[in-house]
Amino acid sequence: MQDKPVALVTGANKGIGLQIAKDLAAHGLTVLVGSRKLENGETAAKSVGEDAYAVQLDVTDQDSIDAAAERIQSEFGRLDVLVNNAGISHASKPGTPFEQIILSNSLTTAPLEDVRKVWETNVFGVIAVTQAMLPLLREAPAGRIVNIGSDGGSLTRNSDPTNPHRAVFGNYSASKTALHAITLAFAFALESTGIKVNIASPGFTSTALNNFNGTRSVEEGAREPVRLAIIGPDGPTGTFSDEDGPVPW
Ligand code: NAP
Repeated sequence: MQDKPVALVTGANKGIGLQIAKDLAAHGLTVLVGSRKLENGETAAKSVGEDAYAVQLDVTDQDSIDAAAERIQSEFGRLDVLVNNAGISHASKPGTPFEQIILSNSLTTAPLEDVRKVWETNVFGVIAVTQAMLPLLREAPAGRIVNIGSDGGSLTRNSDPTNPHRAVFGNYSASKTALHAITLAFAFALESTGIKVNIASPGFTSTALNNFNGTRSVEEGAREPVRLAIIGPDGPTGTFSDEDGPVPW
C-alpha cells in the first residue's frame, strides 16, 4: 500500500472533473483520472501532473467499474477519496442545438429512453461506482465521498414560484435531485464508519455540459467539491453546499 492518499475522480478527462483532479494533485494526493475513453484520460492525466494516472471507467458499465476497482486495489492498494463527478445533461446526439436540448429535457415530452440514459449516468452510475469502491474506502484512514449535485436540483428553491429556473426544471434537474437524496442515504448508512459523504453544487460553470454557456470558470466550479474531498475529521457528513455555504435540499 502506498503512503500517499489516493483520489479517484470520475469523468475527469475534461471540465470540472479535470480541474478537481488538478486541485487534488496540488493538495498532495495521488489522482486517478477516471475516463470512459482511456486515451482521453491519459492526455488529461499528463496535464494533471506526474502523480496522476488514467483509469478507464464508464460509470454505466459494471464490468468497467469492477475492473477499475480491481486495478486500484492491485496497483495502489488504497482509495481515500471518491469524487462522483461524471454526468450528462441530456441524451441527445452531439451537435444538437442547446435550445432543442432544453426542450427535450421536459418530462412532458422527453423519450423515456433518453430519460433513462441520463439517470443511468447521473444516478445509478453513482450508486454502482460508490458500491464498488466502498471496500477500499472503508479501509482508508479518512474516507471521503463527494458527489456533484446542482442548486438547480434544489426542491426548496424550485418550489418558489418566483424562481426562474422552474422553466428548465426537467429531467436533468430531477436526476440531480435524486442524487441529492442518494447522497444522504449513503451518508446515513456510513455515519458510524467515519466516511464522510457530501454533495457539492459547482454553480453554472462554463463546460461542454452547457455548451460553455456557464458563467463560472472550472477553477471556481471545482472549489467546493475539492474543499469537501479533503475535509478534516471534524468536517460534516450529509451536507449539500456551494461555495457560499449550505444549499437548501
Ligand atoms: P463536462 O465537461 O461535459 O464533463 C462531464 C464528464 O463526465 C466528462 O468527462 C464525460 O466524459 C464524463 N462522463 C459522461 N458520461 C460518462 C460515463 N458514462 N462514464 C464516465 N464518464 C462519463 O461537464 P461538467 O460541467 O464538467 O460536469 C461535471 C459534473 O458537474 C456533472 O455531474 C454535472 O452534472 C455537474 N454540474 C455541472 C454544472 C455546470 O454548470 N457545468 C452545474 C451543476 C452540476 P466524456 O468526455 O467521455 O463525455
